[in-house]
Amino acid sequence: MRQDTVPDTTFDPAVADRAVADRLEMPPEAMLELAREAAEILVRRRGELAGDDAWDGEFREALEERLMEDPPEEGQAASDVMERAVRDVLTLALRLDHPGCFGFVPSSPTWPGVVADFLASGYNLNACNWLVGSGPSQLECVVIEWFRRWLGMPETAGGLLTSGGSAASLDALVAAREAAGYPERATVYMSDQSHPAHVRAVKIAGIRPDHARIVPSDGRSRIDLDALARMVAEDRAAGRNPIAVCANAGATATGAIDPLPELADFCAAEDIWFHVDAAYGGFAVVTERGRKLLRGIERADSVGLDAHKWFFQPYEVGCLLVRDVSTLEEPFGVQPTFLQDSLWGSGHPNLTDRGLQMSRSARALKIWMSVQTFGMAAFRDSIASGLDLAARAEAYIDASPALECLSPATLSIVCFRFRPAGAEIAEEALDELNREVLARLFWEDPAFVSSAVVDGKFALRVCIVNYNTTWDDVRAVLEATERFGREALEQL
Ligand SMILES: *Cc1c(COP(=O)(O)O)cnc(C)c1O
Repeated sequence: MRQDTVPDTTFDPAVADRAVADRLEMPPEAMLELAREAAEILVRRRGELAGDDAWDGEFREALEERLMEDPPEEGQAASDVMERAVRDVLTLALRLDHPGCFGFVPSSPTWPGVVADFLASGYNLNACNWLVGSGPSQLECVVIEWFRRWLGMPETAGGLLTSGGSAASLDALVAAREAAGYPERATVYMSDQSHPAHVRAVKIAGIRPDHARIVPSDGRSRIDLDALARMVAEDRAAGRNPIAVCANAGATATGAIDPLPELADFCAAEDIWFHVDAAYGGFAVVTERGRKLLRGIERADSVGLDAHKWFFQPYEVGCLLVRDVSTLEEPFGVQPTFLQDSLWGSGHPNLTDRGLQMSRSARALKIWMSVQTFGMAAFRDSIASGLDLAARAEAYIDASPALECLSPATLSIVCFRFRPAGAEIAEEALDELNREVLARLFWEDPAFVSSAVVDGKFALRVCIVNYNTTWDDVRAVLEATERFGREALEQL
């Protein structure tokens, strides 16, 4: 052994204490200063957001150069580190809370929700079981109970908050398979409009990928019930075991809502688990219109929701509700010996026993704090505003001689394209033209729009779930589409 690698065995308690104190700790004033600076950055960002572009990003090569390095051996000023994070990381992303961000499913977290995540981190909560986190566990039960009532599910229903809709779908499929008694050749049904999270959940759950059966949708992007019935009958005859139907309550591309009451009847008659994916659309139930549109959701065996989409929370918070909470606790409940001391609070809900995570952040806090702060009336109005603006966008598109509606406002999504009335343009050329429009929106317009394929046609798509979005924001992007379309047409 070389001399300089011999461990230092002299021990001076004073030196050791000092080293420990300095190691990863900060004096209170410095803590406050850093937190204050962070809050100022965020509040300033909010004020400037609408004047900024909805998107920013940087290519890999440039970011490698800026960020790929060994971690420093010595520390540096925290505020310099934060400044660098803002410049090289935090600003280089789609601003999903920009009022002109209409792509994918955006998100616009409330400030109390953001602060709640900070508090939950600061208190270092772990909502795994009652002993470790009774406060956060109870709060999660409260929030889940709110959701249950909004959805109109029975009192036996319960669930947990998840990282998002994908985790909710996975947990739901595991519960469905357990409830079905782990049959061989378990088979799951979903429409061609279903979110790909389901195919992934099927694979993770160990169900054969070719037993994820994709049912065609009708002209309004809703699952074809006859085709579903036919496939289930054929599969049973071929020795497959249908265990779950996954319905859309707001498909991501078009907002389509599958015929939920009919699917509930079908699943009840066939004894198949009825899962409703309401990750994007589910929170519309708090409005009167949404409740009507989503009628039948209350009959589901399980419902997945995303509060980080249309319920104005920071990532990550989704939810899985099941009709009977024991159907989650059976597959997921665990009693490891290292938790054998969890005697206090026995008989209380241990949320880890309802899903795949053991350590769990206190996700309920952000929902609870923001609802308590603003009240449900404000939430309801904000969700209703998404419905209103989408309807108004559809009316504008219908009245425009340059635009064609491809999928009418469903919940808060509208799909459309540039297509000047009277002009004879082949479908392929229209697709090409609209790709060009999308590219110009991306590069030249402050808004952010994404695309979809509707009935085989390339569609521009707006999804409006931001409480700060106004009609001016929506109209501006529709007008930009008309303008870019005309210019692209002239260049043909
Ligand atoms: C977003 C979404 C998902 C996936 O949810 P994550 O929170 O991204 O995991 C599933 N289904 C639908 C309909 C969605 O919109």
